[in-house]
Amino acid sequence: MSSTPTALGEEAGEVRRFWRGLGLPGLIDVHTHFMPERVLHKVWDYFDTSGPMVGGLKWPITYRRQEEERAALLGEFGVRAFTAMLYPHKPGMARWLNGWASDFARRTPGCLHTATLYTEPDVEAYVREALEAGARVFKAHVQVGAYDPADGRLQRTWGLLAEAGVPVVIHCGSGPAPGKHTGPEPVARVLARHPGLRLIVAHMGMPEYAEFLDLAERYDQVRLDTTMAFTDFTEGFMPFPRRDLPRLADLGDRILLGSDFPNIPYPYLHQLHALERLELGRDWLRAVCHDNAARLFEL
Ligand SMILES: [Zn+2]
Repeated sequence: MSSTPTALGEEAGEVRRFWRGLGLPGLIDVHTHFMPERVLHKVWDYFDTSGPMVGGLKWPITYRRQEEERAALLGEFGVRAFTAMLYPHKPGMARWLNGWASDFARRTPGCLHTATLYTEPDVEAYVREALEAGARVFKAHVQVGAYDPADGRLQRTWGLLAEAGVPVVIHCGSGPAPGKHTGPEPVARVLARHPGLRLIVAHMGMPEYAEFLDLAERYDQVRLDTTMAFTDFTEGFMPFPRRDLPRLADLGDRILLGSDFPNIPYPYLHQLHALERLELGRDWLRAVCHDNAARLFEL
């Protein structure tokens, strides 16, 4: 499943040619996964066995490698900044994950210090601690966490994050698998109360692409990440509606490159080509692959 070192070297060269061709200093990827090894291995087991998909689609992990190699590979791709998306599936886990992520960011060049949260009594306290420790971005996973983002216990925390201006990458669409609280409606309730909250809707909100674009059009701090969207893999079962392409062009300053590295069933380069073939132009690609995130994170 994993590629050979030579193939990886060639792919890295092609990724660098892609961003150099756009006149960029590199890429910024807002959706990469790094987490404690045993948690990551559980995630990989999940993709290997049951699979998150309807219809039992195969999901080989392309970059199943040691943590150091994975981080080094992003460097070879020329990813200047990336995140360590991690998330709890139960109470009492987020604080521990945040401790790990803080240490990971400290020892990993290019990593934007990431933190996470869950519906639980001490959420406000540990989110405040993470912010004080320098967290630049949060991850919320509505499907895995199986919580309602509009839950009353999270309201003060969303307020805190909105006030701090720290973005939250939120997996809230119903793809690849739906959850009890996925879909645009719970997020719309959060935004009605916290219109300045900097939510980054993961995976372009798939498959509710149009509804999440509605929210981005309505709230100017809402952004979307491209993670897995537009690829051959995703287009096969949750295609992006062609009629909404002009809206992507109009929201070109609020769409951010995301990849899901390393847990992707195709080479990293394919996500970049999938964006290129939308034919939204060079300026759009430059903004999405680098400039929008550089501005957001003041890099
Ligand atoms: Zn992800």
